[in-house]
Amino acid sequence: MDVSSNYTQLRASGHIAWSTSAPSLRTFYPAQPRTYIVRSLDLSQSGCVAMLDAGIDRLMPSRFNLLPTFKPSNITLQTSPGKGLGLFSPNMVYPGEALFAEHPILVLPYAVDAGVPLREAYDDMLSRLPAQTRQELLYFCQSTGAHEPTSAQHLISRITPFAIPLSVPNRDSSDVEMHRGVFLKMSRCNHSCGPNAVWRWDPESFSLILTAIRYINPGEEITIAYTNVSLPQHERRFNLRRSFGFRCACEWCTLDHKSVLESDAARFFLSTFWDSPSRPSFKAWCQESFYSSDTLILDHQRALRYIQREGLETLSSALPSTGIHMSDTIRHIDAISMCYAALEDIDKFAIWTRRAAEEREAFNVLGPDRKLVFSKWLSNPSCCPVWGAKKSTYLRG
Ligand SMILES: [Zn+2]
Repeated sequence: MDVSSNYTQLRASGHIAWSTSAPSLRTFYPAQPRTYIVRSLDLSQSGCVAMLDAGIDRLMPSRFNLLPTFKPSNITLQTSPGKGLGLFSPNMVYPGEALFAEHPILVLPYAVDAGVPLREAYDDMLSRLPAQTRQELLYFCQSTGAHEPTSAQHLISRITPFAIPLSVPNRDSSDVEMHRGVFLKMSRCNHSCGPNAVWRWDPESFSLILTAIRYINPGEEITIAYTNVSLPQHERRFNLRRSFGFRCACEWCTLDHKSVLESDAARFFLSTFWDSPSRPSFKAWCQESFYSSDTLILDHQRALRYIQREGLETLSSALPSTGIHMSDTIRHIDAISMCYAALEDIDKFAIWTRRAAEEREAFNVLGPDRKLVFSKWLSNPSCCPVWGAKKSTYLRG
């Protein structure tokens, strides 16, 4: 799909660009006034109109990869009780399975330079979309049961946006690099505090890809998280009400009072797990004989139970040595496997190492190097660098 000719044509026909210098109170104050470009991207029949920071616009590739293809039957649009319409899966979906990918129809900056005439810009953007897409957008808003939108700005503000990272060169504010995308289907995906899917931005195809993170049964609604789901219930509800105007009634927010407290405690346990000063590090556990053999294993197993009970397979945290984010589920499984290696428990080490490989395989993060390491460890466990590390402290003691 070629966007360069489209770009040239729009420039020739008069794109909108503002160089602003008059700040107002509702926007941000960059050190240098920023310029925005509104133009159509030739991505799909639904059309896409982007209002981009000029710095990003210059970096946009002339071509994008084709959208990954999925079975259209992966998703159906149905009424979700109390939430208007939602996305549902008619089929059984497996963890790690990609459900569908979609291009945005509108792309807008999150923070706009002071003085930009947004009302006019939004009018212009909507007028550039195909009539059919404009109609679907309007239907989208009407189906939420709210009053008819009174302007393009009003209409756009009513649709759940997705954050799209588009790096801006020489940025003077981290806000500048975030844009928001409006999607005809994806923006229909409702929130849950224990979501069963995640989305990620694929810059190569300029699309969002929705992936299941646990089993989704036929007929079950597909949900994502609109807020930080490791927060306690009252904070999650407050954030959702403030940012999206609804009171969450997911299964975790409607538990009885005692169960909400247990849920909050579990979420706190998970969100502070890796930094908790009360838990020994793996190294300390290996070196100090007064830590019992199952201390760490029980804690990691408890974390895995909580992740499943709270529907928090979305959790991921940065690996201290690399800064790379990795699924907490995989981190806990890895940690248990290492504990059994340290204890020289061949059978349990094999079980958890196989599980570590399977979990990675499902999410397509089992690279060839890691696969080789796992297969070496399984055929000869003593190759594992921490093999016997805990047992030896017992022998020394
Ligand atoms: Zn909730």
